[in-house]
Amino acid sequence: MKKVLSEKETHSLMTSLTEEQRHFISNYVVQCKKSKWLEVLSRSKRDFNYKNPNTTTVNVETNEWTLKTIIDGGYGKRPFKCDCGASLRHQYIVYNSKEDKEYKFGSTCFEEHTNLNAQIVKDIKRGFYLIDIELDEILIKYKKKELFDISSFLHLKDELVAADLIKQAKLNIPLSTKQIDKLRKAELHYKHNRNKQEAYKDLNELQITLIEKLPLKEQIELVKDLIKKEFHYEDLPDTVDSAEIQLFVKLGLPLLYRHRIRFNTIESYFQTEHLISEAATENQQSPFKKATEITYDAFMKHHLHILKKVRENQDKISSDNEKVWINIQHNIKEFRNGKEFNHSAFKVDIDHILRQLDLSLENKYG
Ligand SMILES: [Zn+2]
Repeated sequence: MKKVLSEKETHSLMTSLTEEQRHFISNYVVQCKKSKWLEVLSRSKRDFNYKNPNTTTVNVETNEWTLKTIIDGGYGKRPFKCDCGASLRHQYIVYNSKEDKEYKFGSTCFEEHTNLNAQIVKDIKRGFYLIDIELDEILIKYKKKELFDISSFLHLKDELVAADLIKQAKLNIPLSTKQIDKLRKAELHYKHNRNKQEAYKDLNELQITLIEKLPLKEQIELVKDLIKKEFHYEDLPDTVDSAEIQLFVKLGLPLLYRHRIRFNTIESYFQTEHLISEAATENQQSPFKKATEITYDAFMKHHLHILKKVRENQDKISSDNEKVWINIQHNIKEFRNGKEFNHSAFKVDIDHILRQLDLSLENKYG
């Protein structure tokens, strides 16, 4: 995505907002940048700890640089000064806890005035750039009067994430694609929590503990099945070699989709799992037999290209997807070490990231 609006255009659209709208949206941008800053710094801290497991964590426990706020002198004006003397429109006020000192920088030169490394600065700048693009998207939608109909989400007003988005929509400020995504996710969580309350009434502690350990996607699936009382035990073959499946049956919990594909009784199997069977037919064996045992090599053969693509674009991955991406890499590593691999979960997750990164489908397996 390219920056769509010039500074002048952004300014002119901003001035077409009401005072209240402008205040709300400027505050949103500052909040986003502050959390981006925090996120990049804590991620670098984590990487650092990971790479140096023997280092004492005292030094990196609390990061010394905090972005306190960003102030805007207004379009065409440069009322602020950077510590180096340059005149600024936007001034970043950053606090250093080690020195107990406040610094004031311009966006282009905080690298020179802090001891932050080049990669961190690059990540922060990239993150800020994406936030500016999100603002452009909101302003363009505003110009086109593309308001978001919030009426079906009002029950989420007490949810942390959704509350601000509802407020934004009520102020007649359009929502960005990212914000709409967040709202939908909040709705999903809300529904899941409501279903959980219903489903957990009849469960014991052990059953609940096991469910809570599952990835969210599988929790949602399982809780829905619990409510519908669909246990899928009829799909079970006479002997089951998976300890996990045995445990689910013993505890009286519905079997998951990934359990059931092992028995190959699901009709949509070929649509959803065609890649596995492709890998299997290449080996000239029964796709059914092979499908449950897709090897690490076959997996890599099919997905290496796209994994590389994602890695190349790693710095553009959103904060939500970052955990997903870390998890994918972890699971693949475990897969290589001989652990069980959840292929369908992988595909859902990687697809999500690809869509967010705007990597087109023809690139996917090309
Ligand atoms: Zn400077």
